Amino acid sequence: MTVLVAGGGIAGIAMALTCHQIGIPVKVFESANQILPLGVGINLQPNAVRELYDLGLSASLNQIGIQTEEWALVGRNGNDVWAEPRGLLAGYDWPQYSVHRGKLQMMMYRAALKRLGPNAIITDSRVIDYHQSKNNVTLHTINKAGAEETHEGSILIGADGINSVVRKRMHPNEGSPIWGGAVMWRGLSQAKPIRTGASFTLVGKLEQRFVSYPINRPDPTTGLSDINWIAELSYDAKTNRPDGDWNKQVPAAKFKDAFTDWDFDWQNIPHLIDSAKEIYEYPMIDRDPIDMWVDKRVGLVGDAAHAMYPVGSNGASQAIIDTRVLGAKFLEYGANNNALAAYEEQLLNPINELVLRNRGAGPIGILGIIEERCGGIFDDIDDVIPRSEIDKYMIGYKTAAGFAKDQLNGSAQTIII
Ligand SMILES: Cc1cc2nc3c(=O)[nH]c(=O)nc-3n(C[C@H](O)[C@H](O)[C@H](O)COP(=O)(O)OP(=O)(O)OC[C@H]3O[C@@H](n4cnc5c(N)ncnc54)[C@H](O)[C@@H]3O)c2cc1C
Repeated sequence: MTVLVAGGGIAGIAMALTCHQIGIPVKVFESANQILPLGVGINLQPNAVRELYDLGLSASLNQIGIQTEEWALVGRNGNDVWAEPRGLLAGYDWPQYSVHRGKLQMMMYRAALKRLGPNAIITDSRVIDYHQSKNNVTLHTINKAGAEETHEGSILIGADGINSVVRKRMHPNEGSPIWGGAVMWRGLSQAKPIRTGASFTLVGKLEQRFVSYPINRPDPTTGLSDINWIAELSYDAKTNRPDGDWNKQVPAAKFKDAFTDWDFDWQNIPHLIDSAKEIYEYPMIDRDPIDMWVDKRVGLVGDAAHAMYPVGSNGASQAIIDTRVLGAKFLEYGANNNALAAYEEQLLNPINELVLRNRGAGPIGILGIIEERCGGIFDDIDDVIPRSEIDKYMIGYKTAAGFAKDQLNGSAQTIII
């Protein structure tokens, strides 16, 4: 019987591709009228890239993104805190990718259309409710014209994002997502890539920071790439928070004064901000971990299960991993409640812990330690903190997030057919 999926984002489409790969019928219901290339840049960690490779998407991924070569933290005065190679350069068997979120979604969507046919992903179909019996699930959807439908399946996967209706139905007393006080402004600007040419850099301190990385190869004529950037400022979390809408555009004037003097000889941050055609505002929100992702024949994946701060570049990565682990359980148990229970048993505790780590700033939490020791301003980081301490901190994070190098390189394929 069919696996029903609520939501056609990264998680929903990865679920569809995985079901197809293992020969299980699947239907995805997406509320948007059309799947469009929305969002700006994201990073995919090697554990997720491995799964996309196993889905036969390596060439397509390489066409739309670039392999990240370095991850660097830079202090407010422009001095390096930490720089480490990433992906293949770091000895992983799979690269890390920097890519436009919308292009990734479209690439996966097109692959799904080609492999599953045009009827497997139904747009303009908003999930509003579900009911389950001993042997199946009935899904209720509505389209923009107000027409309601029901659909029968063996299980339902809620991949409907941070405001998941499926999660709400499972946890009716949970409120809105939680805001910690930080606001992110995200944009894309044309500029020459800095450092390795494929570096992820974060400049600043916990309360005010600027992240940037190229998401495509430089134009051979101009040498310019699309540089994805995120400017972040922290406020009192009791003040009004911005809307949690990924597509909300605002003018640069809203925040750029705070970055006026962030012009280093290697990166002109005010210029990057000014040259973005569109800027999107989004609050740094997440959800408290919950003790149940699975209710008999209904399970949650991706942001619906564990919306987390995007500080460790693992929101999309973990969404993909969830669907692959679930796929492996389908192979072991069939598409049924036993598979869902085994999936929850494997991932719920470690990923709940990751949500809390990311709330504590994830890998960039090291900046808080540096702040405590020297106020964030230093000439030589070695005078502030031993490199071995930073290294240990970073390995701890990667282990928790499932992409520590030796652990990943040495692990068996998630789905073996
Ligand atoms: C438009 C958009 C832009 C984003 N831009 C960025 C970005 O720039 N940077 C970043 O780090 N993260 C961004 N994200 C979030 C990021 O994609 C996720 O954190 C991550 O990829 C996990 O994916 P997901 O599939 O679990 O959730 P999402 O990517 O949020 O996908 C959920 C999908 O479910 C659909 N949906 C929601 N409710 C229903 C319903 N009731 N019925 C049917 N379908 C429903 C949504 O339309 C969406 O397509 C964006 C998300 C969206 C939806």
